[in-house]
Amino acid sequence: MNAAFVTLVTNEDYALGALALARSLRLSNPRHRLVVMTTRTDVDLDSLQKAGCEIRPVEAIPVSDEFARRHARSALHAAAPYTKGTKPKFHSPLDNFCKLRLWEYEEFDRVVFLDADTVVVRNIEKLFRYPEFAAAPNLYETLNDMHRLNSGVFVAEPSRRTFDSMMASLDVPGKFWRRTDQTFLESFFPDWHGLPYVFNALQYIYFHLPDLWRWESIRVIHYQYEKPWEENHPRTQQLQPLIDLWHTILDGKPIPAKLDPLTITR
Ligand code: UDP
Ligand code: MN
Repeated sequence: MNAAFVTLVTNEDYALGALALARSLRLSNPRHRLVVMTTRTDVDLDSLQKAGCEIRPVEAIPVSDEFARRHARSALHAAAPYTKGTKPKFHSPLDNFCKLRLWEYEEFDRVVFLDADTVVVRNIEKLFRYPEFAAAPNLYETLNDMHRLNSGVFVAEPSRRTFDSMMASLDVPGKFWRRTDQTFLESFFPDWHGLPYVFNALQYIYFHLPDLWRWESIRVIHYQYEKPWEENHPRTQQLQPLIDLWHTILDGKPIPAKLDPLTITR
């Protein structure tokens, strides 16, 4: 099976995120490559290349002016405010839709997409054996989160047909995807397969649902909302151990053995 990890980078901030992700994958999942999709040629991605990533330029998804206006940062934040956490200034909602481009990568039988604000602390190769479309729940506050998916980690089967079909239903008159690609994917794959939440442990679980934060079973940490490289963000104190771990990985140090005694030596 031809399989790859894929992430997306459209600016310098997410390039830094992707670097930590790349370094974590090299330690935890050395057998598979990481493809970095990017819309930018003016952002320095040398360190990502040095970390073993394959850089692939992609075009932004072609959308109508109305669609772009509705999903611009200020319009989206006004129409569907974020009440549970803050989004960094460098987050442009419209850019999220570029993830869909991975369905064009037909040379891969399976792709595991990972947001650039994730780190992989254990082996996750088994995800390549899951069918399309598989994602973990958007679990970070209450049980009520369980019926929604989070699009920061998902399993896809690239197919240009699927991509074309997505393009036909994405930008239809008046359509507003309040959580961008996430809302779209949930609607496009209504019978999505559920992954265990440990394959996409959202950082807010750490303080909202501490009983579920089991270091020994967590495989992917996803820094949703505030990013670990934002200095003194509003959740810094609540998330300090997770932020420290992210910096350890970015610095190229090994994933602490205490966290994962089994996989690191593989
Ligand atoms: N992304 C990007 N540039 C942007 C917005 C998003 O490169 O301006 C990519 C990046 O891979 C990021 C993902 O899309 O991790 C989704 O955005 P983010 O992780 O910030 O959303 P959250 O997980 O906080 O909902
Ligand atoms: Mn994310």
